[in-house]
Amino acid sequence: MVNPSTSVFSPTHVDHPSVLVSGASFAGLATAYWMTTLGYRVTVIELASGLRRGGTPVDIEGETIGILSRMGMMEAVRAKALPPRGLEFKDEEDATLGGLTAASGPDDPSGLRYEIHRNDLLDILFESIDGVVEILFGRSLSQLEDGPAGVAVTFSDGSRGDYALVLGCDGNRSNTRELVFGDSDSSSYFMGGYFYLRVVPETGMLPANKTQIFSVPGLTAMLNGYEDRTDIALAFRSDRQIDYDYRDKEQQRRLIHDHFDGLGWKVPAMLAHVDTDGDFYFDRANQIRMKRWSKGRVALVGDAGYCVSPVAGMGGSMALIGAARLADALRRHPGDHATAFQEYEDKLRPFVEEVQERAAIDGMSLLFPADELEVAERDRKLREGIINL
Ligand SMILES: Cc1cc2nc3c(=O)[nH]c(=O)nc-3n(C[C@H](O)[C@H](O)[C@H](O)COP(=O)(O)OP(=O)(O)OC[C@H]3O[C@@H](n4cnc5c(N)ncnc54)[C@H](O)[C@@H]3O)c2cc1C
Repeated sequence: MVNPSTSVFSPTHVDHPSVLVSGASFAGLATAYWMTTLGYRVTVIELASGLRRGGTPVDIEGETIGILSRMGMMEAVRAKALPPRGLEFKDEEDATLGGLTAASGPDDPSGLRYEIHRNDLLDILFESIDGVVEILFGRSLSQLEDGPAGVAVTFSDGSRGDYALVLGCDGNRSNTRELVFGDSDSSSYFMGGYFYLRVVPETGMLPANKTQIFSVPGLTAMLNGYEDRTDIALAFRSDRQIDYDYRDKEQQRRLIHDHFDGLGWKVPAMLAHVDTDGDFYFDRANQIRMKRWSKGRVALVGDAGYCVSPVAGMGGSMALIGAARLADALRRHPGDHATAFQEYEDKLRPFVEEVQERAAIDGMSLLFPADELEVAERDRKLREGIINL
């Protein structure tokens, strides 16, 4: 693996411009990596007390394979890649309506597509910058003053710092975005649904290395099976946004029950897992659609600037692509962040918009059909073998 420390300096070195990265997930860790290779002194702040773990696996394909190769990480990714996983659409009796054969896996020499557990990719990225950049957990931005020579920053603990650039990699609910661009909800596009996700130890509900999906109008239940764990996902459509307290887990459980009680297939067994204690995610399906991704010396990377939503199935890849494209632009325009930020956006935006549009239209109707018509259309595509994910 390429070690950025061979091409940079210690974090306390004073002759290099400094950059602050907010958020330590895929966008933040990858951005930190690339900024060290450009000669910046990098500080990463992360709201949580450590790396935020959990979630479903990440797809690695296309441009992302090239990027991880350039980062010297592809070998480590291949070593952790999951076996190929097939996808089946089911009916209430558990008969298979159609699906997709497995994506390529670690043994496929064509190397077209890999899947890796979210935690494993986080670890690989973290290892590449650990000890090279300054990482401050349990810290957030509370104020930003963008001036001609740099950004004066106040942190949540009251401490202050000055940085040549600030890069907001703090996810769908980015507070960098809120501080710099104002009300973050104005850039959030509601896709018309909510989802619940919980990862539990292997349940025996389906074979390993399979994804199974069961839908009726407005409701979808999905299981991902692995050797050692099962992802339980439940999603429901809603025309309007629901007013709920994101800290109130009991209220979220009730919402799931209100929608899924009485449904067949494997849903009763899935609901049993909703009722036990444990971490789960419940959120709206949304995208971030910004008019601009940068302002002054601040730029956004990954979900913070252009979340494509879990429906797109490539949030992790998009974050890695964004970080690499930003670094490439800064490399092409040394000392001119304004031109670099503009180029980063101009070149990446068409791809982001294409992915967002595909997820919002095709992805939603295929994975979470809203009504009888969408279910029928999905079934037609399954019969004709023209499902494309
Ligand atoms: C715990 C977790 C589980 C996930 N599970 C799934 C999943 O199952 N399926 C899926 O499609 N996507 C999931 N995602 C989202 C997925 O990781 C992203 O869509 C994608 O990887 C883009 O990465 P990102 O770095 O831009 O954003 P994220 O991965 O969301 O990372 C943002 C980071 O910023 C940190 N942060 C947030 N606010 C602040 C703040 N104010 N100050 C500093 N740091 C802050 C967060 O703690 C997080 O570490 C998950 C994200 C997290 C954090």
